Amino acid sequence: MTHSRCLCGAVTWDAEGPLQFMSHCHCSRCRKAHGTPFATYVTAPADGFRASGRDHVGRYESSPGFFRDFCTRCGSVVPGDPWQNLVFLPTGCMEQDPGTRPAAHIFVASRAPWFAIRDSLPQFEAYPPGVDMPAQPDRPAPDPPGAAPRGSCLCGGVAFVVEGPPTFARNCHCGRCRKARGAAHASNLVTTADGVRFTRGAERIAFYKVPEARFFGQSFCRTCGGPVPRLDRDRNIAVVPMGTLDDDPGIRPQMHIFVGSKAPWFDIADELPQHEEYPPAA
Ligand SMILES: [Zn+2]
Ligand SMILES: [Zn+2]
Ligand SMILES: [Zn+2]
Repeated sequence: MTHSRCLCGAVTWDAEGPLQFMSHCHCSRCRKAHGTPFATYVTAPADGFRASGRDHVGRYESSPGFFRDFCTRCGSVVPGDPWQNLVFLPTGCMEQDPGTRPAAHIFVASRAPWFAIRDSLPQFEAYPPGVDMPAQPDRPAPDPPGAAPRGSCLCGGVAFVVEGPPTFARNCHCGRCRKARGAAHASNLVTTADGVRFTRGAERIAFYKVPEARFFGQSFCRTCGGPVPRLDRDRNIAVVPMGTLDDDPGIRPQMHIFVGSKAPWFDIADELPQHEEYPPAA
């Protein structure tokens, strides 16, 4: 039995298992739904699956006939309807070790240009062998290209450009980031607050702040639940979930932080510096 919840706790779910085929998906829709370089899902039989808090679940049809569900209060990805009697669980929301480990990378043909796969798991261009479905083409960016890297949410209703120079980019493994993104870790690019300019849909953005946290919160699109940049004028920062980017921002994630809270099912395979919590002050 595994127990999971969204960032705010309004939506919770339990799966009896057996859990099967945990994989990292690099498709553009997963990247935008989670705001991360890849999403990690594991399947469970629909019979042993129970969810509560369905009143707080929104859904967005991200490709024809395929819906992605999210918590309308905090923006976390939550499991959607079963497919062939299987529920796809976003592994980042799990509260304990599921026991199983990732078996493959899928949709690597859609991989983010700023992310390199360093582990030795099998890689598949699109669906894994045995799944006979056509891969959906990526949705084009809502705005034409310009000088600054563009980004947009899953539905394209919110779009922005990163005009400020990046201050840094980091992968964060803290428990809040993992639940907010429903993924192994967040990958965030940080610039100054006026370094991000919204070109579409700023009025669609919802914000959830974790009540007991000093700063931690998540900005997301009300229509699709996709994370979007969070502008914090008090601290003069903008936090850009890198999975939302439509163009290569130039910068790459430079380190892993909060690895003391890392998911037990995820191994860091790259050579980037790792810090138990925040990096030491420069
Ligand atoms: Zn929630
Ligand atoms: Zn995917
Ligand atoms: Zn959206």
